[in-house]
Amino acid sequence: MAYDPNNIFAKILRGEVPSKKVHEDEHTLAFHDINPLTPSHILVIPKGPYVSFDDFSEKASDAEIAAFTRAIGKVARDHGLAGDGYRILANIGENAHQEVPHLHVHIFGGKRLGRMLP
Ligand code: C5P
Repeated sequence: MAYDPNNIFAKILRGEVPSKKVHEDEHTLAFHDINPLTPSHILVIPKGPYVSFDDFSEKASDAEIAAFTRAIGKVARDHGLAGDGYRILANIGENAHQEVPHLHVHIFGGKRLGRMLP
């Protein structure tokens, strides 16, 4: 899928739409989900124009990939999630009901989560 530069996260990255930012570096932004499903619900996004993980893993530089991975772990530590645990999840594409076509990882935590796998 071609990247849509007018998706809502692209607008957040350009500062056209506000967000509650918790982390920013050269390659990555993290902010509170506007509709939190758990006490901590944070989204981590690469700044580059990537729709999916398969897209990102093919086109992003090693520095972007490293920054994205490090940001996810840092957000979990900074928000006190590392001890009790948390879940990371990325919806990719139609089968997974991805709503915003800019790659994002959800971090869920702050409560005991339901089991996802049997
Ligand atoms: O993974 P999926 O694409 O379905 O999730 C998109 C997420 O982006 C939702 O959890 C929604 O609440 C969040 N969102 C947001 N800020 C916006 C628009 C959507 O945090 N302005």
